[in-house]
Amino acid sequence: MESSSSEVIKWKDKYYHALDELELLETSTKDTGALFCRALIRLSLAAKGFHQKLDPHLLRLRNQLKQGITNPKLSDELNKFSEALLRFEEGDAEGPLQDASLLFSFLIAQEANIDKVSALKLLYSQYEAGKIASSKELLSLLTELCAPETLEVGHCASDLDALATDLDINFISEQLILLIHDMDMPDASLAEAKKITHALKEAQTEEDFRDSIDAALDFLQQIKKYEQQEREEMEVFLAHVTQKLASLGESANGTADSAKEIFVKRNNLDMSVTTKMQALQEHSASATKLEPLKQLVKSELDNISAQIQAYKLEEKKQQAKADQLVANMALEIEAVKMEARSLKESLKQASTEAMTDALTQLPNRLAYDRRFEVEYARWHRNKEPLSLLVWDIDFFKKINDNYGHKTGDKTLIIIAKLLNKYCRETDFVARFGGEEFTMLLSNTSSDAALVLAEKIRRIIEKTKFNYAGKAINITISCGIAELQVGDNQETLFVRADKALYQAKKKGRNQCVLAS
Ligand code: GH3
Ligand code: MG
Ligand code: MG
Repeated sequence: MESSSSEVIKWKDKYYHALDELELLETSTKDTGALFCRALIRLSLAAKGFHQKLDPHLLRLRNQLKQGITNPKLSDELNKFSEALLRFEEGDAEGPLQDASLLFSFLIAQEANIDKVSALKLLYSQYEAGKIASSKELLSLLTELCAPETLEVGHCASDLDALATDLDINFISEQLILLIHDMDMPDASLAEAKKITHALKEAQTEEDFRDSIDAALDFLQQIKKYEQQEREEMEVFLAHVTQKLASLGESANGTADSAKEIFVKRNNLDMSVTTKMQALQEHSASATKLEPLKQLVKSELDNISAQIQAYKLEEKKQQAKADQLVANMALEIEAVKMEARSLKESLKQASTEAMTDALTQLPNRLAYDRRFEVEYARWHRNKEPLSLLVWDIDFFKKINDNYGHKTGDKTLIIIAKLLNKYCRETDFVARFGGEEFTMLLSNTSSDAALVLAEKIRRIIEKTKFNYAGKAINITISCGIAELQVGDNQETLFVRADKALYQAKKKGRNQCVLAS
């Protein structure tokens, strides 16, 4: 929604422009009307006494004029007056002028133009001297002198003063009553307006009239000030409304959520709020009274706020639901993760178990196969020597036979420990099966392997095995083969095994290199 300051300025301009035009129109209409009334009244006063047959018409005409130019009876009276004038001009009015001196002194008193005053005085002296042949001629001369276009706006004040002191104080007070009646004013001033109107209507003496007219003029000044103040307030208020609408717009757009349902609801809310705001802006721009506008804006803003609150509540509920859903999902994910972790652990365990010899806890044959693949690949890459040692306990069957299977097992466990203990960190030992063990020595030539094998063989040879208090010696034989180009796991093993066989054949307790 657009709510820029330029729009506020547009409102203000539009508002002020409308006010100025209205004011100008009212002023010019009132001024023209009042001027026209005054001119006609003055003309009727000027014509009074010219002829007794015209006088009743003039009196009625004046009375009607006092009620303003909108009086419907006025045109009637003007028509009758015109007809009477016509008859008068056609010769029906040759009677003597009844009070010419009064007429001349009135006209001279009103006239501000010195030249015209001289002309009037000259005309009067001519009339007095009998140089004017008839009333008709005098009338036409006077009409020429007092033509309405000779009246100037600048003379109005003195004219009004003259009229006020003379006959038309009633007219002024009636005009003021009409003016007060048509004026827009705050409710608080209505009582005073009523009081002033009453005083104007009830005034009897000239002093009463003056007091009430003064009071009315003061009152009208106050209302003018009030209008000015109201216009300023309106400006502040419209700025406030614009700001409020903008912040409401932001509030309506403020909360972010990707849920489709909420998106649709927000769109509806946005449309509703935008429509309401547009209507409000139109009302505000065209309003001329602050109080009703304030009421309207307040109720509309309350309405929009309530709508936004309801929407936010709904959105909060949806959000809470979504949060709960997310929390549940997080719990579920965590549970699945735990499950996966324990599954992984048990798989690892199973795999470890599957590749570990249960008796000696050394890697088993399967583990050896895997390890060989890895070492073989590395050998391929690095071309560093890789040697295989195949160990076999000498005359193991005898141990079983002589000391029992359990003792045989214990012997296997001890031999496994010794093999594992005295090989290097990087070497790999496995129980290949029965009383046979394999060793993979990475980055080790067959010669170096023989050195290590001999060392281990001697350690085992020197180890005393205690069987039921009796110390016996156990020996072990070893066949050694280094991986050659063209070898695979099997051919390498076969060569090492053949070397082992040679060791056995040569008397056991020795290590033999494959040929
Ligand atoms: P040689 O010096 O020629 O190797 O003679 P040997 O007796 O060690 O070889 P032979 O293959 O004849 O006997 C191996 C014996 O090892 C037979 C078998 O019962 C025994 N044996 C194999 N596995 C186990 C085991 O897990 N525990 C026990 N206690 N004995 C085993
Ligand atoms: Mg064997
Ligand atoms: Mg053996």
